[in-house]
Amino acid sequence: MTALDLTSAKPDAEARMRPLFGLARAEIADVIGEALSLDAKKARMRASQLWRWAYHYGVTDFEAMTDIGKEMRAALAGLFSLERPKVVDRQVSIDGTRKYLIEVAPGALIECVYIPDVGKAGALCVSSQVGCTLNCTFCHTGTQALVRNLTAGEIVAQVMAVKDDLAEWPSGGDDRRLSNIVFMGMGEPLYNLDNVARAIEIIADGDGISISRRRITVSTSGVVPEIARLGESAGTMLAISLHATNDKLRDELVPINRKYPINELLDACRTYPGVSNVRKITFEYVMLKGVNDSDAEARALVRLLKDIPAKINLIPFNPWPGAPYECSSWERIEAFAAIVNKAGYASPIRTPRGRDILAACGQLKSESVKIRASERVKAVGSGQ
Ligand code: SAH
Ligand code: SF4
Repeated sequence: MTALDLTSAKPDAEARMRPLFGLARAEIADVIGEALSLDAKKARMRASQLWRWAYHYGVTDFEAMTDIGKEMRAALAGLFSLERPKVVDRQVSIDGTRKYLIEVAPGALIECVYIPDVGKAGALCVSSQVGCTLNCTFCHTGTQALVRNLTAGEIVAQVMAVKDDLAEWPSGGDDRRLSNIVFMGMGEPLYNLDNVARAIEIIADGDGISISRRRITVSTSGVVPEIARLGESAGTMLAISLHATNDKLRDELVPINRKYPINELLDACRTYPGVSNVRKITFEYVMLKGVNDSDAEARALVRLLKDIPAKINLIPFNPWPGAPYECSSWERIEAFAAIVNKAGYASPIRTPRGRDILAACGQLKSESVKIRASERVKAVGSGQ
């Protein structure tokens, strides 16, 4: 019998544990193989065990990994961290929507939102960036000063933190409450596609969190050159933030349109890998009073999308302090929806959720600008 060589695992203070979330399974195997001098097959087996404990059972403690020997557990604990990000604040809406303020790294705050009864069971709206570099005029996130890409680990960690809060372990049961993921939180996911695709690889893995790519939607304001790559590398559903039917207005509302105008955007949609009548593209259209909500625009929208397998989502504008728009009246939204409906698009209005806790689309903006992160953490930590 060969004794396990753990001398090279360096469980001492100088060894730096790597956060597990964000690592592909093959990378975990590489780290294990190298650090513990295991052959590739054994390293892969250990990586699979670890993966299942982390993502299927959601354990936070290596001691819970009962089919792994004591020494090996200690060695793995010296290599990887299963630590969750700090949930600085959590608010629950009267409609059951939950909004989380998460400190992904010191001073870097993002929000994600769990919305029950959306998709198959419930959807988690995740962030892909801290803030957003684009400045869509109706969106609160675009006004946030601090911006950086989230790592794949920071994206996956949002899912882990929310699954903890929902007690959604083990993953994948029939009674799951979290069935869908939408990249509609803070940030432009196609400006951070490598990390987004890597996170999706982890979230969709059938031995772990196991949310299939068909139940993951990535929403973009229209980063045309990255749309095909999203389909090829992540294979998710696609949503496009259209919001206007002509370039003049879209240039104003969604400034990235000046770079990639509507016809180029729709061409990329027509050729999106996997698009079909059962895998439709969602077009989001925010209803802004007197700006883009006329009957003529409803008809133009239908015309624009006629040869694309499409779903239309009319989003009542969600106001935020100081916003330069108002939401269209309910009668206007219904009249607009009736035209869209008549053209064959079913239930096009998206019911706003979590409005009372400013958790609805486009309202996410961490308070970091107004209240310094450290002060906020302190307040929560001391129970104030
Ligand atoms: N950056 C990506 C994904 C995040 S925004 C994108 O723009 O698609 C998610 C959705 O919320 C987008 O359709 C966005 O246009 C919409 N949105 C932004 N601000 C909004 C607001 N105040 N009210 C309603 N929808 C809004
Ligand atoms: Fe960024 Fe999307 Fe908001 Fe535009 S709508 S500012 S792309 S988060």
